Amino acid sequence: MKVKSICSLLAIASLGLCALASATGIIPEPNANAMPYATKADPETLVLDARMAGRGIAISTMHIPVKPGPFTFVYPQWIPGYHSPAGPLADISQLTVSAAGRPLAWHRDKVDMYAFHVVVPQGVHSIKVRFTMLLNGGTSTRATPNLAVITWTRAFFYQNDINYHHYYLKASIILPKGWGYGTALTTVSRVGQRVNFAEEPLTYVGDSPLFTGRFYKKVLLWHAGNAHMWLDMFADAPQDLDVPAKLLDAYKNLPREAFALYGTRHWYNYHALLSLSNKISFEGIEHHQSSDNRAPADFMTNPAQQLLGGDLIPHEFSHSWNGKYRRPWDLQTDNYQIPQRTDLLWVYEGMNQYLGDLLSFRSGIRKPSEYPQYLATLYSQMATEPGRNTEPLIDLTTGAPYFYMTGFGEYPSLRRSAGDFYTEGELLWLDVDTIIREKTHGKKSLDNFLHLYSLPKLTGPITKPYTRADIEHLLYEVCPYDWHAFFQRHVYEVAKLPPTGELRRSGWRLVYTAKPNPFITAAEQIYHTDFQWLTYGFNSKAGVLSDVREGSPAWQAGMAPGMKLVAVNGQSYTPKVLQYYLVQAEHDHEPTTFTVAQDGWVRAIKVGYFGGPRYPHLVRIPGTVNMLAKIMAPHAKH
Ligand SMILES: [Zn+2]
Repeated sequence: MKVKSICSLLAIASLGLCALASATGIIPEPNANAMPYATKADPETLVLDARMAGRGIAISTMHIPVKPGPFTFVYPQWIPGYHSPAGPLADISQLTVSAAGRPLAWHRDKVDMYAFHVVVPQGVHSIKVRFTMLLNGGTSTRATPNLAVITWTRAFFYQNDINYHHYYLKASIILPKGWGYGTALTTVSRVGQRVNFAEEPLTYVGDSPLFTGRFYKKVLLWHAGNAHMWLDMFADAPQDLDVPAKLLDAYKNLPREAFALYGTRHWYNYHALLSLSNKISFEGIEHHQSSDNRAPADFMTNPAQQLLGGDLIPHEFSHSWNGKYRRPWDLQTDNYQIPQRTDLLWVYEGMNQYLGDLLSFRSGIRKPSEYPQYLATLYSQMATEPGRNTEPLIDLTTGAPYFYMTGFGEYPSLRRSAGDFYTEGELLWLDVDTIIREKTHGKKSLDNFLHLYSLPKLTGPITKPYTRADIEHLLYEVCPYDWHAFFQRHVYEVAKLPPTGELRRSGWRLVYTAKPNPFITAAEQIYHTDFQWLTYGFNSKAGVLSDVREGSPAWQAGMAPGMKLVAVNGQSYTPKVLQYYLVQAEHDHEPTTFTVAQDGWVRAIKVGYFGGPRYPHLVRIPGTVNMLAKIMAPHAKH
């Protein structure tokens, strides 16, 4: 598709720049060695006029401290949390630059499209840069008539090659009339619709998004002394904020369970920002003292939404410890132009996928008794991916910037996708947890590792980097074992099956039966999918095939992604109709005839599958300890 290919080209150009720079020495590589002109005493200022946010527009006006002569300002490219060069260049419009009230000519760099050059006249100490930010641009939708998600890294330019820990920005926002806001930034004053925040290092402002909206509710989840955790919800409709008290109580358990898991915290005040809108895509982005969570309108009122996505806020919250405080050494950079190395995302994201789920079950957002059925879906998905026969997990994490930007596309199981190191990461870290529990006879667990991982306690929002060897040494301290060989086998080499030992070790066995799995049923209802992956061998969404499993009956018969299901055995397709003929085929052993439409052509495809409905489940191994129940049970002392 067009948009996808543009993104890929941008990414190639930016990475090509680094190669060119080192090969020729002409273009300096992005670095953080320049002296920052914006200081705490004389910061860059940014006023974001968001009064037209409901119409999808915000106007950004900056004063950037400069010195006379050639000067380059840049737009953030590598955005922490996105793990990719995702800075949305195409969403910038109407850019103007002026100095001392006069227009100043600017031009974009021919190679680094994120860089803009000017020549600053003598006697000028700051330039004014103004642009219109398209909130609903080519990359995502962030505003509706009732709410907006403001990400500051999309709103500012800054001096090239500075270290963003030592470059200061003072931000202000002008809100639409009557709209509330939530952010981890410190408010120093408010005059009418204008809110002024404290001057902070650029990295901290960039790490502190702001949600604003007409309908909002703020819930205090936890506090002790001056430390607080808030849930700030913004909705398109007021009734979507009527959250059942029982669910809110479960969310109030979340910080307590996180403290029990990690033994400390590295934030002062934390805001879980949540948008509830069907216009904004499901997404979660982690920050040190807040998180940017975007969910459907009925996320807090429909139990099926919590069953499927109840780990969204726990996952992002867990990242405050694992991802923000502890971070891979090569993923930590000193400004937004320096490329991030993503190979250790199997710890950063892989372990966090496990911990986010674990926290959602321990808090009671999801019922701990449901975890085994959830785990069965993860395992069966990863075990039936043909792409894993040639591509190790480390290749997916190393190539993550591309995989994130290109999305899932067609055949996500053949070429594997960024989602794999999350899903398989969960199996991997559950495997680690069960190995520790088994080898220490239940005395220790991954929780002990996380307590060590989070030391020293209460540092505030700083970053402490790690290497692969650090992780292996720390695990060894908790439980002597050849962790290097373990990760080598499961992450760094082709592994034809996902980690498997955790199932038996935790007292469970995988079976396939005709009984529906509740997680698959919920996904089918909410996402309008039809899960036939383990039967005919395809998945479809809204009646269109999204993937076909290599070697499956559907594959053998010639089915492919993009085909629209029109009819099954001559009867108009619905998931229910297909289910009827799936059972029928098991009895009469006749192939199922699918009528499919694609690009203006209609044809019939006969698929020979006679095994009936097939869903993954975990069943208990009699006489063993139910380790999954122990892991997912509440741990916090109340
Ligand atoms: Zn994550």
